[in-house]
Amino acid sequence: MSSGETSLRTHFADAFRQITKRSESPEIHVSFYPFAGLNHTIRIRKQRVYVRVSDILRDAPQQVYRALAFILVSKLFNKRVMAEHEKLYRQYAYQPQVLRASDLARQKRGRKVLTSAVGRVYNLDKIFARLNRRYFGNELPKPTLSWSARRTKRILGHHDYVHDAIVISRSLDSVAVSEFLVEYVLYHEMLHMKHRPRVVNGRRVYHTAAFRADERRYGRFEEAMEELDELTSRR
Ligand SMILES: [Zn+2]
Repeated sequence: MSSGETSLRTHFADAFRQITKRSESPEIHVSFYPFAGLNHTIRIRKQRVYVRVSDILRDAPQQVYRALAFILVSKLFNKRVMAEHEKLYRQYAYQPQVLRASDLARQKRGRKVLTSAVGRVYNLDKIFARLNRRYFGNELPKPTLSWSARRTKRILGHHDYVHDAIVISRSLDSVAVSEFLVEYVLYHEMLHMKHRPRVVNGRRVYHTAAFRADERRYGRFEEAMEELDELTSRR
């Protein structure tokens, strides 16, 4: 165990005592873990607590460790995270060099499960080509396009700029879904290629005003919104 892990354990024990208002904390195991990206996990098994902290934070200062401990333990108990902890953590984690380290880790370690652009009903390559011509003057370089491996319902589309890929939920590859809705979801993800996120007050903002304005240029925007509402209320 490294000294970083030892001091992390102390902070987690403090966080447990304060958040549960008990004088004792459970047995805690903390380790750094090479996650793809800046992720951390906490779980309880047989009254022991297991914490894995992204190894990107190996050199983080003590107050960041402390903030992270309070954030994760609060989440474990569904408690509101105190603003000062959230702020401290974000100030550190959203620095350009930390973001960059996180992106690099994702690139190196992340495994993408990609299937194919050709679905049972819709072909993403064809829809991409049509949208690129109509809305982007054919200027967007073609990313890897793929239907998701699983039928995710909460996330309909995702643009991953590290892997230069757009993944669309397989739940939309269905005769029950209008083509213009698939088009709209793909169009939204293509806009993420055009509009890079901006950092505002230490947070990455993906859907900027310019992004939202562009989004409304989609010809059947209102209809797509209506069908999306229907689709989500049916669930
Ligand atoms: Zn988006």
